Order: sequence, then C-alpha cells, then structure tokens
Amino acid sequence: MQIDLRSDTVTRPSKGMLDAMRTAKLGDDVYAEDPTVNALEARVAALFGKPKALFFPSGTMANQTAIKLHTQPGEQLICDKYAHVYNYEGGGVSFNSGVSCQLVDGHRGMMTAAQVEAAINPPDFYHSPLTSLVTLENTTNKGGGACWDFNEISKIRTVCDAHELGLHLDGARLWNALVAKPESALQYGQVFDTISVCFSKGLGAPVGSMLVGDEDLLNKALRVRKMLGGGMRQIGSLAAAASYALDHQYDRLKDDHQKAKDIAEVLQQLEAVSSVEPVETNIVIFKLNPNIPEALFLDNLKAHDILVSDMGSGKLRMVTHLDYTDAMHANLLEILRKP
Ligand SMILES: *Cc1c(COP(=O)(O)O)cnc(C)c1O
Repeated sequence: MQIDLRSDTVTRPSKGMLDAMRTAKLGDDVYAEDPTVNALEARVAALFGKPKALFFPSGTMANQTAIKLHTQPGEQLICDKYAHVYNYEGGGVSFNSGVSCQLVDGHRGMMTAAQVEAAINPPDFYHSPLTSLVTLENTTNKGGGACWDFNEISKIRTVCDAHELGLHLDGARLWNALVAKPESALQYGQVFDTISVCFSKGLGAPVGSMLVGDEDLLNKALRVRKMLGGGMRQIGSLAAAASYALDHQYDRLKDDHQKAKDIAEVLQQLEAVSSVEPVETNIVIFKLNPNIPEALFLDNLKAHDILVSDMGSGKLRMVTHLDYTDAMHANLLEILRKP
C-alpha cells in the first residue's frame, strides 16, 4: 500500500465525483454557454460575496491573471519571500506581466502590515518601480500550511487603501484556512480585490481553480485568460467535479488537519527529527538532525513505500489529503515510531 504524502494534489476523483462528471450538462464555455460552469461560477462568487467568478485550468493561471489585472509592465508587487507567485510559478510574474517582486522577510510566509507599508516605493520617486499590488497567500504553502491572523489582513487592506494598491489573495488552500479558523468566505471577499481558490488541492477535484472579484476586473480577466490559452470549451464535467467537491469533500478537510497534527506529534518524538513546524492545517514541515542524511531518511521511508517532499534547505514536507486513509495513517504512524 503506497502512502503518498508529497502533496494534496495526488488524489484521484472519487466514484461520486466521476458520476457527477459523467452526467454534467455541457456547453461551450468560450461562449459562456456551459451551464455547469456558469452555475459553479455563480456559486463561488456568491460564497465570497463578489459579483463575478471565472473558472481557470490552474491556480497558477488564476494568480497570473490577477497580477496582470492589477499591474502594468515595469511596476512592482509586494509579497512574502515564500510566496508561490514568486517561487513556484515559473517566473510568470515577469514573463506575463513584466512585473518585479519586492520580497518581504515575513514569518512562515506571512507579513505584517508594517512590513508591507515599509516595502512600498514612494510613488513620486520615479527611479524605483511603482508599487501597485500586494499579494498574500492563505494558507501558506512554503510556510507549512500556516493561517493568517485576519486582523493583520484587515490592517494590510488599510495600508493598500491609503496607498491605492490592489490586494490579491492566493487562496489555493483558503478552504483549509476557512475550516481551521473562524472567519468566513464573505469576510475574505470583503477585504480582497481578487481571490484565487483551487478545487484540486484539498478538495480533491482533478482540475480547476477560480478567480473571484468585481465585475470590471473579471470582465478584463476574461481577455487575459484567453491570451494565456485558458479559454476552454465543454468543461462542465470539470466544474461538476469541483461542485461535487464543495458539496461532499469540504467538511472532511478537518480530518486531514487532525491527521497532520497526529503525524507532527509522532515526528516530534523522533530522535532523527530536530524540529517540526506548528501544524494548523494539512501540511507538516520538519527538519532532520544535522547528523541524519536526508537521503537516508527518505530512502528508508521509500523502502516502506512512503513518499514525502524534499523542500530543500533541510526541510521535509508531508501533506495529508482525501486519499490518505485511516488505515494508511495508522500504518504510517507505526512505521515512523519504529526505531
Ligand atoms: C498549488 C498552488 C498554486 C498553483 O496551483 P496550480 O493549480 O498547481 O497551478 C498557487 N498557490 C499556492 C499557494 C499553491 O499551493
């Protein structure tokens, strides 16, 4: 029995999801005539209290589109040094939007409002790039699934208003934060100009992300999505998978969080492990003792058919998900505890 904890993207569509996909009503989404996509877009827009939402083939394309909407070439966005948009989108920020990133040295992928304010270039100092956008990420991926303090986000909104900056949320794992914390999707909709969410991480759909925002911005997003090659046709079956995931695979995210906490507890007791980052959601990031070679630790796990991610600089990552069953969990904890 393989135990794959590399990412929460390794899940397969469940039987119920496949049935929903097979029976979905379809149309040409480039003509905005796919009823299943239209229904999902309306549903997710309403969830965040935003006028409009747009379906994307990937989270990267949704984020890249948002960045394009908020910036002009030559300008600069502010993000944490761990940000996915900076580290893991293939340099798309500069390729697609001609924008540079002002990196902030935050804590577990999260910045303070004071740090954001200090990172803004004075708009009348024409030697520097013009700051036009702040991008946050919740939960933070490289930050180990950490959730933002909503008060800090509100303060960043105030900074953005004072300096006329856009505010985008990379919410690839926002569902996990919504389950772990008391704030609602509506509250997130109120503070951010645009939010991307993902259906193929914790929710377990095979494909799909969505960008929500105001009518004006999202009408422009339609053109950007087209330019990036993201205009798709009869994709109602994909929207049906996402919709099924929201209905049937959302509440169970708390089980992933509990399993991640269990794993962290066991890791903490291992001699080979020097530190485990606090677990708030479904990601466990830990470091090995310097005398334990990473390759040896990973090979040992691999011998038990257990896969985890190497994040570099001595960090290893495990991510719990829909297809990580109770039986696998019991098995993993037992193998980890073995000397
Ligand atoms: C996975 C991820 C994305 C991008 O999603 P893709 O669908 O893989 O392009 C964006 N942001 C964060 C934080 C992610 O973890």
